[in-house]
Amino acid sequence: MPFRPMPFHGELFKGYIIRLASRNGRDELKDFVKAFEIAAVAKRIYVVGTPEHQRFIEVLSNSMGVDCAALAKYFEQEKEVQVLDWLSSRHILVNHPSVCPKCVAKHGYLKADWHLYYATHCHEHECKLWNRCPQCGKLLTWNGMLLDGCPSCALKWKNVSPIKAELPSSQVALSNVQGQAKLELIKQIILKLNIGLRPFDASFQKLRDIDKYVCDLEAHVEHAFQLAHSKDAMVQLKVKRIQHWQSKVAGKPQVELFNKLDAANDYLFNRLDTESGHTIGESVEPKESSHQVLTSHRRLNASPDKACLELTWPQLKDTLKINEERIKSLIRGGLIPGRMHMNSPDKVSPCRVDDVVAFFRDIKQQALPLVASNDEKHQDEFIAWGDDKALSKYKLKTHELIKPVSSGELPIYAPDHHDHVFEDFRFCASSLEQMFGSRAANTDFRKPTKKQSA
Ligand SMILES: [Zn+2]
Ligand SMILES: [Zn+2]
Repeated sequence: MPFRPMPFHGELFKGYIIRLASRNGRDELKDFVKAFEIAAVAKRIYVVGTPEHQRFIEVLSNSMGVDCAALAKYFEQEKEVQVLDWLSSRHILVNHPSVCPKCVAKHGYLKADWHLYYATHCHEHECKLWNRCPQCGKLLTWNGMLLDGCPSCALKWKNVSPIKAELPSSQVALSNVQGQAKLELIKQIILKLNIGLRPFDASFQKLRDIDKYVCDLEAHVEHAFQLAHSKDAMVQLKVKRIQHWQSKVAGKPQVELFNKLDAANDYLFNRLDTESGHTIGESVEPKESSHQVLTSHRRLNASPDKACLELTWPQLKDTLKINEERIKSLIRGGLIPGRMHMNSPDKVSPCRVDDVVAFFRDIKQQALPLVASNDEKHQDEFIAWGDDKALSKYKLKTHELIKPVSSGELPIYAPDHHDHVFEDFRFCASSLEQMFGSRAANTDFRKPTKKQSA
Protein backbone atom coordinates (compact mmCIF):
# COMPACT_ATOMS: atom_id res chain seq x y z
CA MET A 1 0.00 0.00 0.00
CA PRO A 2 1.86 3.12 -1.18
CA PHE A 3 -0.29 5.68 0.65
CA ARG A 4 -0.96 5.16 4.34
CA PRO A 5 -2.71 8.16 5.87
CA MET A 6 -3.58 7.75 9.55
CA PRO A 7 -7.19 8.27 10.73
CA PHE A 8 -8.49 11.59 12.03
CA HIS A 9 -9.90 11.79 15.52
CA GLY A 10 -13.64 11.17 15.26
CA GLU A 11 -13.37 9.63 11.79
CA LEU A 12 -15.78 6.81 11.00
CA PHE A 13 -13.99 3.49 10.57
CA LYS A 14 -15.75 2.64 7.33
CA GLY A 15 -15.14 6.18 6.13
CA TYR A 16 -11.45 5.74 6.90
CA ILE A 17 -11.31 2.57 4.81
CA ILE A 18 -12.97 4.45 1.94
CA ARG A 19 -10.37 7.19 2.25
CA LEU A 20 -7.52 4.66 2.42
CA ALA A 21 -8.87 2.83 -0.64
CA SER A 22 -9.43 6.04 -2.57
CA ARG A 23 -5.92 7.29 -1.85
CA ASN A 24 -4.58 4.04 -3.23
CA GLY A 25 -6.57 4.27 -6.43
CA ARG A 26 -9.54 2.09 -5.47
CA ASP A 27 -12.92 3.78 -5.36
CA GLU A 28 -14.74 0.47 -5.08
CA LEU A 29 -14.56 -0.66 -1.49
CA LYS A 30 -14.88 -4.35 -2.29
CA ASP A 31 -11.87 -4.29 -4.62
CA PHE A 32 -9.77 -2.75 -1.91
CA VAL A 33 -10.91 -5.17 0.78
CA LYS A 34 -10.33 -8.16 -1.52
CA ALA A 35 -6.59 -7.40 -1.48
CA PHE A 36 -6.56 -8.30 2.22
CA GLU A 37 -8.07 -11.69 1.46
CA ILE A 38 -11.17 -10.80 3.39
CA ALA A 39 -14.52 -11.71 1.92
CA ALA A 40 -16.06 -8.57 0.47
CA VAL A 41 -19.45 -9.63 1.76
CA ALA A 42 -18.25 -9.55 5.38
CA LYS A 43 -20.14 -6.41 6.35
CA ARG A 44 -19.28 -6.88 9.98
CA ILE A 45 -15.66 -5.97 9.35
CA TYR A 46 -16.90 -2.36 9.51
CA VAL A 47 -18.68 -2.77 12.82
CA VAL A 48 -16.10 -1.76 15.38
CA GLY A 49 -16.08 -4.20 18.27
CA THR A 50 -16.89 -7.39 16.34
CA PRO A 51 -14.30 -10.20 15.96
CA GLU A 52 -14.47 -9.72 12.18
CA HIS A 53 -13.51 -6.09 12.64
CA GLN A 54 -10.67 -7.05 14.99
CA ARG A 55 -9.19 -9.43 12.41
CA PHE A 56 -9.52 -6.82 9.68
CA ILE A 57 -7.74 -4.13 11.67
CA GLU A 58 -4.91 -6.57 12.50
CA VAL A 59 -4.32 -7.39 8.84
CA LEU A 60 -4.66 -3.73 7.96
CA SER A 61 -2.17 -2.46 10.55
CA ASN A 62 0.27 -5.18 9.49
CA SER A 63 0.22 -4.13 5.88
CA MET A 64 0.49 -0.45 6.85
CA GLY A 65 3.36 -1.16 9.21
CA VAL A 66 1.67 0.56 12.15
CA ASP A 67 0.90 -0.67 15.64
CA CYS A 68 -2.52 -2.32 15.71
CA ALA A 69 -3.49 -0.97 19.14
CA ALA A 70 -2.49 2.55 18.09
CA LEU A 71 -4.69 2.30 15.01
CA ALA A 72 -7.61 0.81 16.94
CA LYS A 73 -7.44 3.64 19.47
CA TYR A 74 -8.87 6.09 16.93
CA PHE A 75 -12.12 4.12 16.85
CA GLU A 76 -12.58 3.61 20.60
CA GLN A 77 -15.60 5.90 20.94
CA GLU A 78 -17.25 4.38 17.86
CA LYS A 79 -16.87 0.98 19.48
CA GLU A 80 -18.42 2.13 22.75
CA VAL A 81 -21.47 3.57 21.01
CA GLN A 82 -21.74 0.54 18.76
CA VAL A 83 -22.17 -1.86 21.66
CA LEU A 84 -24.90 0.23 23.31
CA ASP A 85 -27.61 -0.91 21.02
CA TRP A 86 -28.05 -2.61 17.69
CA LEU A 87 -29.73 0.55 16.43
CA SER A 88 -26.44 2.33 16.50
CA SER A 89 -24.77 0.13 13.97
CA ARG A 90 -27.58 -0.20 11.47
CA HIS A 91 -26.35 2.60 9.25
CA ILE A 92 -22.92 1.09 8.91
CA LEU A 93 -24.20 -2.43 8.43
CA VAL A 94 -26.87 -2.03 5.82
CA ASN A 95 -27.61 1.56 5.09
CA HIS A 96 -26.27 4.36 3.08
CA PRO A 97 -23.79 6.94 4.32
CA SER A 98 -24.97 10.20 5.86
CA VAL A 99 -22.83 13.28 5.41
CA CYS A 100 -22.61 16.98 5.97
CA PRO A 101 -21.41 18.01 2.50
CA LYS A 102 -19.79 21.17 3.89
CA CYS A 103 -17.78 19.18 6.40
CA VAL A 104 -16.63 16.61 3.84
CA ALA A 105 -15.53 19.39 1.50
CA LYS A 106 -13.72 21.18 4.33
CA HIS A 107 -12.20 18.28 6.31
CA GLY A 108 -12.03 15.51 3.71
CA TYR A 109 -13.27 12.67 5.88
CA LEU A 110 -16.52 11.15 7.21
CA LYS A 111 -17.33 11.71 10.87
CA ALA A 112 -18.34 8.75 13.02
CA ASP A 113 -21.05 10.84 14.68
CA TRP A 114 -23.04 11.13 11.46
CA HIS A 115 -23.55 7.43 11.11
CA LEU A 116 -25.52 6.76 14.22
CA TYR A 117 -29.28 6.99 14.37
CA TYR A 118 -29.53 9.82 16.83
CA ALA A 119 -27.50 12.23 14.65
CA THR A 120 -29.68 14.24 12.31
CA HIS A 121 -27.79 17.52 11.92
CA CYS A 122 -24.31 18.95 11.55
CA HIS A 123 -23.69 21.26 14.46
CA GLU A 124 -20.90 23.15 12.74
CA HIS A 125 -22.87 24.07 9.64
CA GLU A 126 -26.35 24.06 11.16
CA CYS A 127 -27.84 21.88 8.47
CA LYS A 128 -29.47 18.49 8.12
CA LEU A 129 -27.24 15.55 7.26
CA TRP A 130 -27.68 14.21 3.75
CA ASN A 131 -28.07 10.59 2.76
CA ARG A 132 -29.47 11.42 -0.66
CA CYS A 133 -28.01 13.61 -3.40
CA PRO A 134 -30.14 16.71 -4.01
CA GLN A 135 -29.17 16.77 -7.69
CA CYS A 136 -29.75 13.19 -8.88
CA GLY A 137 -31.95 12.11 -5.97
CA LYS A 138 -30.00 8.88 -5.47
CA LEU A 139 -29.01 7.55 -2.07
CA LEU A 140 -25.34 8.05 -1.29
CA THR A 141 -23.14 4.97 -1.51
CA TRP A 142 -20.00 3.74 0.20
CA ASN A 143 -17.58 4.70 -2.54
CA GLY A 144 -14.33 6.67 -2.68
CA MET A 145 -15.97 9.36 -4.79
CA LEU A 146 -18.10 10.24 -1.76
CA LEU A 147 -15.14 12.22 -0.41
CA ASP A 148 -15.54 14.74 -3.22
CA GLY A 149 -19.19 14.60 -4.07
CA CYS A 150 -22.10 12.41 -5.08
CA PRO A 151 -20.83 9.02 -6.32
CA SER A 152 -23.76 8.82 -8.76
CA CYS A 153 -23.58 12.20 -10.52
CA ALA A 154 -21.10 14.97 -10.98
CA LEU A 155 -22.24 17.09 -8.04
CA LYS A 156 -19.26 18.23 -5.99
CA TRP A 157 -19.59 19.01 -2.29
CA LYS A 158 -17.49 22.15 -2.64
CA ASN A 159 -20.17 23.59 -4.91
CA VAL A 160 -23.16 23.03 -2.68
CA SER A 161 -24.60 24.97 0.16
CA PRO A 162 -27.09 23.11 2.34
CA ILE A 163 -30.16 24.88 3.67
CA LYS A 164 -29.63 26.29 7.16
CA ALA A 165 -31.84 24.65 9.74
CA GLU A 166 -32.44 25.50 13.36
CA LEU A 167 -30.71 22.82 15.40
CA PRO A 168 -33.06 20.64 17.46
CA SER A 169 -32.17 20.71 21.16
CA SER A 170 -31.11 17.05 21.03
CA GLN A 171 -28.45 17.88 18.46
CA VAL A 172 -27.17 20.83 20.47
CA ALA A 173 -26.97 18.65 23.59
CA LEU A 174 -25.08 15.92 21.74
CA SER A 175 -22.52 18.36 20.45
CA ASN A 176 -21.97 19.75 23.95
CA VAL A 177 -21.00 16.50 25.64
CA GLN A 178 -18.05 14.16 25.27
CA GLY A 179 -16.87 10.75 26.42
CA GLN A 180 -18.91 9.03 29.12
CA ALA A 181 -21.49 11.83 29.33
CA LYS A 182 -22.13 11.48 25.61
CA LEU A 183 -22.61 7.73 25.92
CA GLU A 184 -25.10 8.28 28.74
CA LEU A 185 -27.04 10.77 26.65
CA ILE A 186 -27.12 8.40 23.68
CA LYS A 187 -28.35 5.59 25.93
CA GLN A 188 -31.20 7.79 27.18
CA ILE A 189 -32.19 8.78 23.67
CA ILE A 190 -32.20 5.19 22.41
CA LEU A 191 -34.33 4.07 25.36
CA LYS A 192 -36.91 6.82 24.92
CA LEU A 193 -36.87 6.47 21.13
CA ASN A 194 -38.22 2.97 21.60
CA ILE A 195 -41.20 4.29 23.55
CA GLY A 196 -41.74 7.35 21.41
CA LEU A 197 -41.88 5.60 18.06
CA ARG A 198 -45.00 3.68 19.06
CA PRO A 199 -46.23 5.66 22.06
CA PHE A 200 -49.55 3.85 22.49
CA ASP A 201 -48.20 0.40 22.08
CA ALA A 202 -46.94 -1.62 24.95
CA SER A 203 -44.81 -3.93 22.84
CA PHE A 204 -42.38 -1.22 21.92
CA GLN A 205 -39.20 -2.85 23.20
CA LYS A 206 -38.01 -4.39 19.99
CA LEU A 207 -38.00 -2.54 16.76
CA ARG A 208 -37.06 -3.79 13.37
CA ASP A 209 -36.39 -2.32 9.99
CA ILE A 210 -36.66 1.10 11.54
CA ASP A 211 -34.84 2.63 8.58
CA LYS A 212 -37.28 1.04 6.19
CA TYR A 213 -40.42 2.30 7.91
CA VAL A 214 -39.29 5.60 9.42
CA CYS A 215 -37.49 7.51 6.73
CA ASP A 216 -36.92 10.63 8.82
CA LEU A 217 -36.07 10.09 12.44
CA GLU A 218 -35.47 13.76 13.23
CA ALA A 219 -38.70 14.46 15.10
CA HIS A 220 -38.51 11.10 16.87
CA VAL A 221 -34.98 11.72 18.10
CA GLU A 222 -35.93 15.17 19.37
CA HIS A 223 -39.04 13.78 21.05
CA ALA A 224 -36.96 11.02 22.66
CA PHE A 225 -34.52 13.62 23.96
CA GLN A 226 -37.39 15.57 25.51
CA LEU A 227 -38.89 12.44 27.05
CA ALA A 228 -35.52 11.72 28.63
CA HIS A 229 -35.12 15.20 30.14
CA SER A 230 -38.54 16.62 30.82
CA LYS A 231 -40.97 15.35 33.38
CA ASP A 232 -43.77 17.28 31.68
CA ALA A 233 -43.14 15.56 28.36
CA MET A 234 -43.24 12.16 30.05
CA VAL A 235 -46.40 12.91 32.04
CA GLN A 236 -48.13 14.13 28.88
CA LEU A 237 -47.18 10.96 27.06
CA LYS A 238 -48.58 8.79 29.85
CA VAL A 239 -51.87 10.70 29.85
CA LYS A 240 -52.13 10.33 26.09
CA ARG A 241 -51.47 6.59 26.30
CA ILE A 242 -54.30 6.06 28.75
CA GLN A 243 -56.68 8.22 26.69
CA HIS A 244 -55.76 6.26 23.59
CA TRP A 245 -56.40 2.91 25.24
CA GLN A 246 -59.67 4.14 26.71
CA SER A 247 -60.88 5.19 23.27
CA LYS A 248 -59.89 1.77 21.89
CA VAL A 249 -62.08 -0.12 24.35
CA ALA A 250 -64.92 2.44 24.59
CA GLY A 251 -67.58 2.07 27.25
CA LYS A 252 -67.22 2.85 30.96
CA PRO A 253 -63.99 4.52 32.11
CA GLN A 254 -61.24 2.09 32.98
CA VAL A 255 -58.55 4.56 34.01
CA GLU A 256 -57.48 2.67 37.15
CA LEU A 257 -57.01 -0.52 35.20
CA PHE A 258 -55.00 1.23 32.49
CA ASN A 259 -52.82 2.94 35.07
CA LYS A 260 -52.10 -0.44 36.54
CA LEU A 261 -51.23 -1.86 33.11
CA ASP A 262 -48.98 1.07 32.40
CA ALA A 263 -47.24 0.95 35.77
CA ALA A 264 -45.25 -2.05 34.50
CA ASN A 265 -43.49 0.38 32.18
CA ASP A 266 -42.50 2.78 34.92
CA TYR A 267 -38.92 1.57 34.94
CA LEU A 268 -38.70 3.08 31.46
CA PHE A 269 -40.74 6.19 32.15
CA ASN A 270 -39.10 7.07 35.40
CA ARG A 271 -35.58 7.13 34.08
CA LEU A 272 -35.39 10.87 33.67
CA ASP A 273 -32.36 13.09 33.73
CA THR A 274 -33.87 16.43 34.72
CA GLU A 275 -30.62 17.73 36.25
CA SER A 276 -28.61 17.54 33.06
CA GLY A 277 -28.71 21.27 32.38
CA HIS A 278 -29.53 20.67 28.71
CA THR A 279 -31.85 23.15 27.09
CA ILE A 280 -35.10 21.53 26.03
CA GLY A 281 -36.57 22.79 22.78
CA GLU A 282 -40.19 23.47 21.97
CA SER A 283 -42.29 20.39 22.42
CA VAL A 284 -42.57 18.18 19.35
CA GLU A 285 -45.17 15.58 18.59
CA PRO A 286 -43.94 13.14 15.96
CA LYS A 287 -46.45 11.03 14.11
CA GLU A 288 -46.75 7.55 15.51
CA SER A 289 -44.56 5.37 13.35
CA SER A 290 -45.91 2.49 11.33
CA HIS A 291 -46.87 -0.66 13.23
CA GLN A 292 -44.32 -2.51 11.14
CA VAL A 293 -41.42 -1.25 13.23
CA LEU A 294 -42.42 -3.72 15.90
CA THR A 295 -40.65 -7.03 16.05
CA SER A 296 -42.44 -8.92 18.76
CA HIS A 297 -45.06 -11.23 17.33
CA ARG A 298 -44.61 -10.18 13.74
CA ARG A 299 -47.39 -12.50 12.71
CA LEU A 300 -49.84 -10.83 15.06
CA ASN A 301 -48.74 -7.34 14.18
CA ALA A 302 -49.94 -7.83 10.66
CA SER A 303 -52.46 -4.99 10.86
CA PRO A 304 -52.27 -1.55 12.47
CA ASP A 305 -55.30 -2.26 14.62
CA LYS A 306 -53.87 -5.41 16.18
CA ALA A 307 -50.42 -4.00 16.66
CA CYS A 308 -51.43 -1.08 18.75
CA LEU A 309 -52.98 -2.98 21.61
CA GLU A 310 -50.46 -5.64 22.49
CA LEU A 311 -49.24 -6.01 26.07
CA THR A 312 -46.20 -7.59 27.66
CA TRP A 313 -46.04 -10.42 30.21
CA PRO A 314 -44.85 -8.19 33.08
CA GLN A 315 -47.79 -5.86 32.47
CA LEU A 316 -50.23 -8.75 32.61
CA LYS A 317 -48.59 -10.26 35.66
CA ASP A 318 -48.79 -6.98 37.57
CA THR A 319 -52.35 -6.34 36.50
CA LEU A 320 -53.87 -9.80 36.93
CA LYS A 321 -51.72 -10.72 39.96
CA ILE A 322 -51.08 -14.07 38.32
CA ASN A 323 -47.72 -15.29 37.08
CA GLU A 324 -46.80 -15.72 33.43
CA GLU A 325 -47.00 -19.50 33.25
CA ARG A 326 -50.43 -19.53 34.85
CA ILE A 327 -51.72 -16.77 32.58
CA LYS A 328 -50.52 -18.84 29.62
CA SER A 329 -52.38 -21.90 30.80
CA LEU A 330 -55.52 -19.81 31.39
CA ILE A 331 -55.28 -18.50 27.84
CA ARG A 332 -54.82 -22.05 26.52
CA GLY A 333 -57.85 -23.10 28.53
CA GLY A 334 -59.91 -20.29 27.03
CA LEU A 335 -60.51 -18.67 30.42
CA ILE A 336 -58.71 -15.45 29.51
CA PRO A 337 -58.98 -14.04 25.98
CA GLY A 338 -55.63 -14.37 24.26
CA ARG A 339 -54.00 -15.85 21.25
CA MET A 340 -52.23 -19.12 20.59
CA HIS A 341 -50.01 -20.05 17.71
CA MET A 342 -52.06 -22.02 15.19
CA ASN A 343 -49.49 -24.74 14.57
CA SER A 344 -47.85 -24.90 17.98
CA PRO A 345 -50.43 -24.31 20.71
CA ASP A 346 -47.64 -24.15 23.28
CA LYS A 347 -46.80 -20.71 21.99
CA VAL A 348 -49.07 -18.19 23.60
CA SER A 349 -48.96 -14.45 23.03
CA PRO A 350 -49.80 -11.93 25.75
CA CYS A 351 -53.32 -10.56 25.74
CA ARG A 352 -54.07 -7.20 24.23
CA VAL A 353 -55.39 -4.23 26.18
CA ASP A 354 -58.91 -4.90 24.90
CA ASP A 355 -58.61 -8.58 25.91
CA VAL A 356 -57.82 -7.58 29.47
CA VAL A 357 -60.69 -5.12 29.59
CA ALA A 358 -63.08 -7.72 28.14
CA PHE A 359 -61.94 -10.22 30.79
CA PHE A 360 -62.33 -7.60 33.52
CA ARG A 361 -65.82 -6.71 32.35
CA ASP A 362 -66.83 -10.40 32.24
CA ILE A 363 -65.82 -10.83 35.86
CA LYS A 364 -67.47 -7.53 36.71
CA GLN A 365 -70.72 -8.72 35.24
CA GLN A 366 -70.69 -11.72 37.56
CA ALA A 367 -69.87 -9.61 40.61
CA LEU A 368 -72.19 -8.86 43.49
CA PRO A 369 -71.99 -5.44 45.14
CA LEU A 370 -69.46 -5.17 47.90
CA VAL A 371 -70.33 -2.83 50.72
CA ALA A 372 -67.08 -1.41 52.01
CA SER A 373 -66.53 -1.70 55.71
CA ASN A 374 -63.43 -1.46 57.84
CA ASP A 375 -64.55 -3.66 60.69
CA GLU A 376 -62.64 -6.81 61.49
CA LYS A 377 -65.46 -9.16 60.69
CA HIS A 378 -65.66 -7.67 57.21
CA GLN A 379 -61.90 -8.03 56.74
CA ASP A 380 -62.07 -11.69 57.64
CA GLU A 381 -65.06 -12.33 55.45
CA PHE A 382 -63.52 -11.18 52.18
CA ILE A 383 -60.25 -12.11 50.48
CA ALA A 384 -58.87 -9.87 47.76
CA TRP A 385 -58.16 -11.10 44.23
CA GLY A 386 -54.45 -11.88 44.07
CA ASP A 387 -54.05 -12.41 47.81
CA ASP A 388 -52.69 -15.92 47.42
CA LYS A 389 -51.35 -15.83 50.96
CA ALA A 390 -54.87 -15.60 52.38
CA LEU A 391 -56.14 -18.11 49.80
CA SER A 392 -53.53 -20.64 50.88
CA LYS A 393 -55.79 -21.38 53.85
CA TYR A 394 -57.97 -23.18 51.31
CA LYS A 395 -54.98 -24.52 49.39
CA LEU A 396 -56.02 -22.26 46.55
CA LYS A 397 -54.49 -19.66 44.31
CA THR A 398 -56.28 -16.86 42.43
CA HIS A 399 -55.92 -18.48 39.00
CA GLU A 400 -57.79 -21.57 40.17
CA LEU A 401 -60.83 -19.48 41.05
CA ILE A 402 -61.34 -17.99 37.60
CA LYS A 403 -63.15 -21.04 36.26
CA PRO A 404 -65.70 -21.35 39.12
CA VAL A 405 -66.26 -17.57 39.00
CA SER A 406 -66.83 -17.55 35.23
CA SER A 407 -69.24 -20.44 35.44
CA GLY A 408 -71.18 -18.71 38.20
CA GLU A 409 -70.47 -21.42 40.80
CA LEU A 410 -68.41 -19.17 43.03
CA PRO A 411 -69.71 -15.70 43.87
CA ILE A 412 -67.37 -12.75 43.50
CA TYR A 413 -67.79 -9.24 44.90
CA ALA A 414 -66.80 -5.85 43.56
CA PRO A 415 -67.17 -2.13 44.37
CA ASP A 416 -70.28 -0.59 42.87
CA HIS A 417 -68.36 1.54 40.34
CA HIS A 418 -66.52 0.45 37.20
CA ASP A 419 -63.24 2.28 37.53
CA HIS A 420 -61.22 -0.14 39.62
CA VAL A 421 -58.55 -2.83 39.36
CA PHE A 422 -58.49 -6.62 39.69
CA GLU A 423 -57.31 -6.44 43.33
CA ASP A 424 -60.61 -4.76 44.20
CA PHE A 425 -62.51 -7.95 43.41
CA ARG A 426 -63.23 -9.98 46.54
CA PHE A 427 -63.85 -13.65 47.22
CA CYS A 428 -66.11 -14.47 50.13
CA ALA A 429 -64.42 -16.64 52.75
CA SER A 430 -67.57 -18.55 53.65
CA SER A 431 -68.26 -19.48 50.01
CA LEU A 432 -64.68 -20.69 49.69
CA GLU A 433 -65.10 -22.67 52.89
CA GLN A 434 -68.30 -24.16 51.53
CA MET A 435 -66.82 -25.04 48.17
CA PHE A 436 -63.23 -25.93 49.04
CA GLY A 437 -63.29 -26.35 52.81
CA SER A 438 -62.94 -30.10 52.56
CA ARG A 439 -59.66 -29.69 50.70
CA ALA A 440 -58.20 -27.83 53.63
CA ALA A 441 -59.78 -30.02 56.28
CA ASN A 442 -58.35 -33.17 54.71
CA THR A 443 -54.85 -32.11 55.55
CA ASP A 444 -53.12 -31.96 58.91
CA PHE A 445 -51.56 -28.63 58.14
CA ARG A 446 -53.86 -25.71 58.49
CA LYS A 447 -52.55 -22.22 58.90
CA PRO A 448 -53.92 -20.58 62.05
CA THR A 449 -55.97 -17.52 61.26
CA LYS A 450 -55.69 -14.30 63.20
CA LYS A 451 -58.68 -15.21 65.32
CA GLN A 452 -57.48 -18.67 66.17
CA SER A 453 -54.08 -17.51 67.29
CA ALA A 454 -55.52 -14.71 69.44
ZN1 LIG B 1 -20.81 20.31 8.66
ZN1 LIG C 1 -26.04 12.89 -7.36
